[in-house]
Amino acid sequence: MDLKPVIGIDLGGTNIVGILINERGNILAKKRRKTLAQEGKDKVISQIIGCVNDLLKEGENLGISPEKLLGIGVGSPGPLNRKQGIIYHAPNLPGWENVPLVKILKDELGMSIFLENDANAAALGEWWLGAGKSVNNLILLTLGTGIGGGIIIEGQVYHGSKDMAAELGHIVIKEGGMICGCGTRGCLEAYASATGVVRRARAAMKQGYKTILKDLVRNNPEGLTCELVFQAARERDSLALWLVEETGRYLGIGIGSLANVLNPEMVILSGGMIKAGDLLFNPVRRFVKLFSLKAIIERVKIVPGTLGDEAGAIGAAAAVLKERRML
Ligand SMILES: [Zn+2]
Repeated sequence: MDLKPVIGIDLGGTNIVGILINERGNILAKKRRKTLAQEGKDKVISQIIGCVNDLLKEGENLGISPEKLLGIGVGSPGPLNRKQGIIYHAPNLPGWENVPLVKILKDELGMSIFLENDANAAALGEWWLGAGKSVNNLILLTLGTGIGGGIIIEGQVYHGSKDMAAELGHIVIKEGGMICGCGTRGCLEAYASATGVVRRARAAMKQGYKTILKDLVRNNPEGLTCELVFQAARERDSLALWLVEETGRYLGIGIGSLANVLNPEMVILSGGMIKAGDLLFNPVRRFVKLFSLKAIIERVKIVPGTLGDEAGAIGAAAAVLKERRML
């Protein structure tokens, strides 16, 4: 059987990850490039095209002709419009306002291009080849600078009416709480993203709590990171342990409510923060039970993603196969 190849691209704020894969999910080539977001929109687009050309070249070395390619999927920050192929706004990419990315890439590459939201793509990738490959109903949260989300229902991405569903970072977990980048107060992202953890740590340090975090940042509070908070927690620092516990509680509130609504088989956590491992997963698993119905939550697995930062590119490729009804 002649397996059809497809390309998936994950457009991140720092890196562009590209994957050449076939319909069976065999990865044929991987490429990555710096996004160079600060150099502007045109530079970023040329980096995407460069990444695609690198993959096509490596494909040709493997005897795969570009004519056989089913298409290119691009996982991009949003909000975006899949049908029109437009990215309305990308918070981490300066100058990206109403960019008709699908048309631009199509004109340049002469291939079918499909757009998908980056966190939806990560969820689809984990569903296809990662932690979620044995289930059909899952929720994914990416825990990084912000919190992104993807929802898979019966094996399909849930997009909502305007491709904006699953903004899971912006569910409110504390009325009147800390201000979020979206303008609302009390969003999950404001508390439980890496940025949120650092903000809460700084606030606690200002109040004079005794903590080794002060030594770890060598009296430079600007150098405080979420990793350092987890490191301090591993060294049994009581403030850091409390901050991690609290992060687990906030995630538990959010995930518990989501589980009540969606009754998933699995909740996948991905992104930089999951490097903390059980230190983070244990409190999440414990607290989630307090904030959801027992009959629902006792069957939900809460697990780390297994595809790392390739989930988005793999999912973007899967989005092409979904569009073509091949997956
Ligand atoms: Zn928000």
